[in-house]
Amino acid sequence: MQFHLNGFKPGDPEISEPAENTAGARADALPEEVDVLIVGSGPTGLTLATQLAAFPDIKTCIVEQKPGPLQLGQADGIACRTVEMFEAFGFSHRLLKEAYWVNEISFWKPDDKQRDHIVRTDRIQDTEDGLSEFPHVILNQARVHDFYLNVMRNSPSRLEPAYSRRLVDLAVAESAAGDLSGHPVTARFERIDPEHQGQVETVRARFAIGCDGARSTVRKSLGRELRGESANQAWGVMDVLAITDFPDIRLKSAIHSASEGSILIIPREGGYLVRLYVELDKLNENERVSNRQITADHLIAAAQRILRPYTLDVKEVAWWSVYEIGQRLCDKFDDVPEDQEGSRLPRVFIAGDACHTHSPKAGQGMNVSMQDGFNLGWKLAAVLRGQSSPRILHTYSAERQTVAKELIDFDRKFAQMFSAAPKDPSRPDSEGVDPAEFQRYFVKQGRFTAGTETRYYPSIICGEATHQDLARGLVIGMRFHSAPVIRLGDAKPMHLGHTVKADGRWRVFAFADAQEPAAPGSPIQALCAFLAESPRSPVRKYTPAGADIDAVIDVRAVFQQDHRTLALEAMPGFLLPRKGRYGLIDYEKMFCPDLKSGNDIFDMRGIDRQHGCLVVVRPDQYIAHVLPLDAHAELASFFDGFMESPPTR
Ligand code: FAD
Repeated sequence: MQFHLNGFKPGDPEISEPAENTAGARADALPEEVDVLIVGSGPTGLTLATQLAAFPDIKTCIVEQKPGPLQLGQADGIACRTVEMFEAFGFSHRLLKEAYWVNEISFWKPDDKQRDHIVRTDRIQDTEDGLSEFPHVILNQARVHDFYLNVMRNSPSRLEPAYSRRLVDLAVAESAAGDLSGHPVTARFERIDPEHQGQVETVRARFAIGCDGARSTVRKSLGRELRGESANQAWGVMDVLAITDFPDIRLKSAIHSASEGSILIIPREGGYLVRLYVELDKLNENERVSNRQITADHLIAAAQRILRPYTLDVKEVAWWSVYEIGQRLCDKFDDVPEDQEGSRLPRVFIAGDACHTHSPKAGQGMNVSMQDGFNLGWKLAAVLRGQSSPRILHTYSAERQTVAKELIDFDRKFAQMFSAAPKDPSRPDSEGVDPAEFQRYFVKQGRFTAGTETRYYPSIICGEATHQDLARGLVIGMRFHSAPVIRLGDAKPMHLGHTVKADGRWRVFAFADAQEPAAPGSPIQALCAFLAESPRSPVRKYTPAGADIDAVIDVRAVFQQDHRTLALEAMPGFLLPRKGRYGLIDYEKMFCPDLKSGNDIFDMRGIDRQHGCLVVVRPDQYIAHVLPLDAHAELASFFDGFMESPPTR
C-alpha cells in the first residue's frame, strides 16, 4: 500500500484523514437530501456503502431496520472470487487469518451392505489448482459485515449505518428522472427504537438502492416481483459445538443417507464450531415452514439419524434457523422498463436477495449479492463524480440480471440433485440420483461456485473479443485473473491483480512485447508518449486538472525481461509519474515476471510474447478490453464511448 504521498503522517495508514463534511454520515437524524440512499446493511448494502465511502464528495446514507450490526448466523461460504474482491477492499488478510479454509470435500452415501449406515465414497480437492490465488473459505457473515464496517469507519467519509429505521415506502418523481441534478427519490423511514418509536423521517435522494433482502420493500415499491419456484423445500441450519466420532467433521462433507435425508457439513472458523445443513421434509404448496413448529432438537435428532453409525452429541447450539428455499428472480434490477431505456435513467436499483434468491447449499447467496454491490458501486460513483456518462447505469441490471439467471438455473439443478434420494444399487430401477453423478456435477461446477465463471457481455463498458488471442487467459468480460510478478522498483514479489483496489479507478495493463522497453521507438515508449502527450489520450482527456495523472486511469506496464536486467532510470517518465503536493515519484507502475519461481505471467495468462497487448480493467476488476499494444486510437475510442471530460481543465 502507498502512503505519505502528501506529507508524512504517523499512525495507522489504513485510517484515512476524515473529509471536511462527514456530518451526514452519522448524525442522529437522517439527512434530508443525499446523493445515494442504501436501504439495508446486509452484505449487499455494505459492499455498496464501502465502495461509496471512498468518495467523500458523494453524500451516501445507509439505513438499517435492525438495532445494530449483525451478530450471528446467516450465510458463511466465501468463494475465491469474493476473497479477490475483499483484497480490493483491503481486508482479505484479516479474513484469511480468521476463516476456515475449504481445502477438501468428502462425499458420503449409504453403505451398500447396510443401507442405514453411511460410508465415505470419496475425498477430493475443493478448488482446482490455479483457479485463484485465494482459497474458498468459511466465515460467519457477521464478521464479514464487521470488516466492511471497519473500512467504512476508517474511510474519508467516516460512513456508518443509521440503525433502527424501517423503510415504509419509496417513490420516484417521474418528471425529474432525466435530470441528474435533482433528488427524485423520496423515501420515508419509521424509527423503531424505543426512544423514537413511530417517528417518521423523510430522505430525498438522487439514487436509491434496495439492498433490503428477499422481502424487499424497495422492490415492491417499484412494482417488481421475485418470480420462480416458491419456497417448498425447507432446510434446517445450525451452528453447533459437538462431540462426534464422525471422522470428517473438520472437512466440508456432503452426506446422503438411504432414507433419513441429507446433511451438508461446513466446518467453521475457530477449529471447533461446525455448521450442519439438515434437509427437512418438502413443504406442501403454500405451506410455510413456520407452521411445522420445527425446533433445534428436531434438527439435532435428524442429524443424528443421518449420521448413523456415527454419533453426535451436541453441547451447544450457537445459532439455528429454518431456511426455506425458492429459486426466484426479478426480471429487471432497476426502475426503468426495458422499452424506456433510451429515454429514462435508472434512479432506483435493487441488489442481492432483493432481486434473486436461491438455496444456501451451493453457498452463493452472499457471494453473488456482494458482487451486485461491487458492480453498481463504482458506476454510481463515476456518474455522480461526473467521470462517466449516466448511460453506464443501465449496464448494472443488464449484467447482474444475466448472472443471477445463470445462478438460479445452476442452483435449481444443484438443489434437486442434493435433495434427491440416493439410488439403491441393488434395485437398478429405483428412483434417485447416483451419488457418483452428484459428485461429478459438483466437481464440474467448481468454477461456477468459486465465482470465477461470471462473464459480462459486450456493452459500452465491455469490448468485443476481436483481439482476445493476444491474451488468451485474460478473458474480456471476466474477472482479471491475477498472477505473480516482481515489482521493478523494489523487487517485491506480489500479485499483479492486487494493484486493482476498490478506488473507482480504471486500470490499463500494458504487457510489453519482447523488445528492450527502454529502446527508443519501442512499442512501450510509443504508448507512453501517446498517453502522456496526445490530445486524444484518455489519460489526458479524462484526468481533472490538478489531479494526479493516475487519478482516473492507472496505467501499469509488465515487461518480459528479468527485473535485474532492466534499468529503471531508462524507463519512460510516464511510468515514473510525479504525484502529490511535492511531485514525488511513484515507483510502483512497472513489473516483471517472477522468473525465479517459474511463474511467468506471460505464459500463465497466454499473452502474445511477440506483440504484447493492452488489457483494460474496470474498477470492479473485470476485464473491459484486450487490444494490441499500438492500438492507441482504439483505446481512446473505447474510453470515449462512456467517459465524460472533466468540467474545467
Ligand atoms: P440480507 O442479508 O437479507 O440483508 C438485508 C438487510 O436489509 C437486513 O439487514 C434487513 O434487516 C434490512 N432490511 C430489510 N427490510 C428493511 C426495511 N424495510 N428497512 C430497513 N432495513 C431493511 N445463506 C446461506 O448461504 N446460508 C444460510 O444458512 C443462510 N441463512 C440465512 C438466514 C436468514 C435468516 C437470512 C435472512 C438469510 C440467510 N441466508 C443464508 C442468505 C444470505 O444471508 C443472503 O443471501 C445474503 O445475506 C444476501 O444479502 P443481502 O444483503 O442481499 O440481504
